Amino acid sequence: MLCPVCNGIRLLEAACSRCLGPLVDCGPERDLADPYAPYGPAAAVSSEALLGELQVEPVCIHRLYCTVCSCSSEAEVALVRQFPHP
Ligand SMILES: [Zn+2]
Ligand SMILES: [Zn+2]
Repeated sequence: MLCPVCNGIRLLEAACSRCLGPLVDCGPERDLADPYAPYGPAAAVSSEALLGELQVEPVCIHRLYCTVCSCSSEAEVALVRQFPHP
């Protein structure tokens, strides 16, 4: 399993929830904090994570930054199986 964004397979495109400006991908969050820490937008899934930690859907948490209003947010990128060679 790999993150398509970390591996350059696709771009992470998102709009700022405040100003709808383009968000810049600052890279995976997992290097910075515990991915299951209950904070921010990710808190919505934390209860499921606690119930079945072994069955957690593998995601890569990316930190996003808005260059317009300087707010930061997070996005969950679903991991994919390795792409077959074309
Ligand atoms: Zn990633
Ligand atoms: Zn913004």
